[in-house]
Amino acid sequence: MPPPAEPLGTRVGPDGALPLPWLAPGLAAADAQRGHALLIVAAPGDGAFALLHTLAQGWLCEGPSVNGRPCGHCAACHLVQAGTHPDLSLLLPGVQALAHGLASEEQVTNGGKRKPSKWILIDEVRSTLAWVATTRSRERGKVVVVHPAEALQGPSANALLKALEEPPPGVRWLLSCSDPERLLPTVRSRCQRLVLPSPDRAGAIAWLQGQGVTDPGALLDACAGRPLDALILHGDGVDARAWAALPSALARGQVAAWSGWPLARTIDALQKLCHDLLLQAAGAAPRYFPPAALPAVQGGVGPLLAWADELRRVARQVEHPWNEPLLVEALVGKGRDALATLKP
Ligand SMILES: [Zn+2]
Repeated sequence: MPPPAEPLGTRVGPDGALPLPWLAPGLAAADAQRGHALLIVAAPGDGAFALLHTLAQGWLCEGPSVNGRPCGHCAACHLVQAGTHPDLSLLLPGVQALAHGLASEEQVTNGGKRKPSKWILIDEVRSTLAWVATTRSRERGKVVVVHPAEALQGPSANALLKALEEPPPGVRWLLSCSDPERLLPTVRSRCQRLVLPSPDRAGAIAWLQGQGVTDPGALLDACAGRPLDALILHGDGVDARAWAALPSALARGQVAAWSGWPLARTIDALQKLCHDLLLQAAGAAPRYFPPAALPAVQGGVGPLLAWADELRRVARQVEHPWNEPLLVEALVGKGRDALATLKP
């Protein structure tokens, strides 16, 4: 399965304000690293790309940059923000470049000839390596951002590995990933590693409120505390009420509650629902749904565990060309039946 996309192209403000307020501690910690390659480990909805982009700008900034924070108004900052800094190269798969507003639909589909890629292509790695080998134009060295590193497969990963093993002078590499185990061990071992602290809940709620999200706490719970995911859910028209209605929709087998959702999101929501029902059956507090939205359950959880297995199996093959309406109907039906055996 390809790595999940993390949309939103977020930018440093002209006063140096961070694009995402919770990035400050991670940014300072990352800035303190002195190796030539840094791997940031972060959950997909925590803002890894915003951190890499901000840190790259901080390193290239020609004004007063403190703790990795760029000044936001020097010539270098303007060039980074405009996407035209000659010493910065961004290596992202087409889907991510599109989501972050770094490329047009026309560019990532090669004029409509192909789907936007979920992988970083070998040609893109080669052209970045060729760029690395040329003379730099400004004072601060060069920075290459790779986001996410899981999108490097086979030859692309090997080509990058060579550059990490024999680092050209004056070049710094910034990589992100959500699961280091999915990278080549040799790529992992060439990078200093930093785990991005998760956003604090109060700060995330305040930020979501500022983005116009109503009842942000409920959507934040729905997204395991990841504010960018919560904002995407909100942007797609899923509010706290629609989310809280899912357990009763499951109990009634109402597939329409998931209609129009991308398959990956439907499966994710069903897995979260299954997870919370299992917690509920064990007498523990749910994690993703408000307790009042969940039905009381009791009895053996065998059918729920079987449903969980089925959901896991499908989640691993989400890219398979399913007949999605039929698949969702079957999964919801199985969940409804499992729930029916647990009604007190
Ligand atoms: Zn600057």
